[in-house]
Amino acid sequence: MSKPFDFELERLTRPSSYSGMVRGARIGQRGTFFLETFGCQMNDHDSEKVAGVLLSRGYRQVETPEAASLILYNTCSIREKAAQKVFSRLGEYRAKQSDGKVIGVLGCVAQQEGEQIFERAPWVSLVCGSASYRKLPEMLAELEAGNHRVTGLDTDTDETFETEMTRRDNPWRAYLTIIEGCDKACSYCVVPYTRGPERSRASDSILKEVRQLADLGYSEVQLLGQTVNSYADPTPRKMCFSELLLAVADVPGIRRVRFTTSHPSDFTPDIVQAIESQSRLCDHVHLPVQSGSTKVLRAMQRTYSRDEYLEKIEMMRHAKRPIAITTDIIVGFPGETEADFEETLDLLDEVQYDGLFSFKYSPRPNTPSLAMNDPIPEEEKSRRLAILQEKQREIQAARNTALVGQTFEVLVGGKSRRENQWSGYTTSHRVLNFASQAKELLGIYVQVRVTGAGPNSLVGEHAV
Ligand code: SAM
Ligand code: SF4
Repeated sequence: MSKPFDFELERLTRPSSYSGMVRGARIGQRGTFFLETFGCQMNDHDSEKVAGVLLSRGYRQVETPEAASLILYNTCSIREKAAQKVFSRLGEYRAKQSDGKVIGVLGCVAQQEGEQIFERAPWVSLVCGSASYRKLPEMLAELEAGNHRVTGLDTDTDETFETEMTRRDNPWRAYLTIIEGCDKACSYCVVPYTRGPERSRASDSILKEVRQLADLGYSEVQLLGQTVNSYADPTPRKMCFSELLLAVADVPGIRRVRFTTSHPSDFTPDIVQAIESQSRLCDHVHLPVQSGSTKVLRAMQRTYSRDEYLEKIEMMRHAKRPIAITTDIIVGFPGETEADFEETLDLLDEVQYDGLFSFKYSPRPNTPSLAMNDPIPEEEKSRRLAILQEKQREIQAARNTALVGQTFEVLVGGKSRRENQWSGYTTSHRVLNFASQAKELLGIYVQVRVTGAGPNSLVGEHAV
């Protein structure tokens, strides 16, 4: 079994006098911050909220760590590689740190490693897990007062991280966390440990923010949660997830509503009925399966069997309008035999996913699967991953080719350096690159006729 951070540990524990330099820091006087984010959309959105907190305290965001008095890393520890990246980044800034720059580690690695980060990287002065972000203003005040070891590592909270101000990166599509933490206990996963127990945000607060977003000109919102469909409204209104989806879609000005990630066990028929009845709910569901083998699913503690998962897929395939389905798969989980892996390949044939995120199993600290025998060598995991990805590539190429000739609405989000070339997303979350003579299309919904297809995107022309 591999041990996380061995390599970085050596590099980061060399003697240094960084704590002394940090002690003299006065970030309030300089007030500039650089924030780098690793990981998932939830981390991206947490960073938007962290940036909002800092901006509302008078800090100014800068583009480079060199220009900042406060450097923050919002980290991911879902797989070993992601966590290692954070430590190597911290190592890089050890050398660049000067003039009392303050360095902070936020997110999952902060929660996972806790105060040990101070041992490994003494030049770090803030360690804060995501469940403690609501205390960020107090922690920043402590840093401004010259405290050089500030921590926020509680996970025993029933509060969610809401801010007066969020600095959003995208001017048209807004992320919105509706449920934080996770109460599932997948045996491979650090999230319940790093993000704490499940907490749902009040429906009235969510809807108020959606109305504000619409007023600001956002037309697409993406509701976020590790198990977004386990949403349980804590207010007396007790909205269920599908009611919330419909209420968000009813907000004037909102044209597209997305949500991710759905857990198969909580994926109920009313969600599909909501999508059928309301075209502003996007026709895309991300429903991670993780494995096609019931035996492996049991070992993963995923709470459903292959057949139960396939029932959810059937439900969507029988919907009144087509729904694109994407998934996550882990290969090489402890005990996964060649026959189990074949079952996963067979599931791909059966479901015909529109997209796939696939990962080699990575043993993580504090997870039950760490204690399982991990007999699958890294090369074998890589072999299985390559086979899986090649199969999915063929499936996607065929599914996308079948769309040639059809016309889709696209929210234009990008302009190519090549003249008259634009790109955007369909409601099924496909990337569509297209040609148009129009002068300005960014942030606008246009109709695009598909003229060609590859496994990862479509090409087309503006249909006017
Ligand atoms: N909550 C979501 C769910 O239940 O599917 C996903 C959360 S996780 C941030 C995203 C994906 O990372 C998971 O679906 C899984 O495929 C992958 N993942 C999580 N832990 C992993 C591990 N220890 N090794 C490899 N992949 C992992
Ligand atoms: Fe992790 Fe499972 Fe929770 Fe998803 S549902 S965050 S994989 S424990």
